[in-house]
Amino acid sequence: MAEVSAHLDMYEPVFTIGVVARKLDISVQTVRLYQDEGLVLPHRTESGHRLYSLHDLDRLQCIRRMITEYGMNLQGIKRMFSLSPCWKIKDGPLDDCKTCPAYFEVAGPCWSLPVVGDKCKDADCRNCKVYRLKLDCSRMKKLLFGNEAPGTQGED
Ligand code: SF4
Repeated sequence: MAEVSAHLDMYEPVFTIGVVARKLDISVQTVRLYQDEGLVLPHRTESGHRLYSLHDLDRLQCIRRMITEYGMNLQGIKRMFSLSPCWKIKDGPLDDCKTCPAYFEVAGPCWSLPVVGDKCKDADCRNCKVYRLKLDCSRMKKLLFGNEAPGTQGED
């Protein structure tokens, strides 16, 4: 995404679904599928159109790599995202999270669940640091658990 990233805010929703599909060399239906599965959260304009940010593009690119290079399927990716420790990353008391379905759920990431706890029920997940985590397909253990291979520290 380097050619478009120089002057863009990472999180600004600017790309239509058609542009996203073209950039990733996939069909619009496939982008929709990833969205329907809760893997990406596009911004909705007042007229109901979906817009994606550079961060969404990076996320989708990583998802594509997991599927095409790492042999994962959508269920596996959703389960992996569900392990992201939102209860540690999002501000607020941990006790609020212990009654939240996301604390136990492994079917998908917290932002895709129909019901979440009090701490999140009115939150805009697109603006949350849990959704905004920088995905790096080759360093998933760093993302999920903070574990990093020797010699790779400080490369963020
Ligand atoms: S605000 Fe949304 S993305 Fe953030 S922790 Fe809550 S459910 Fe997850």
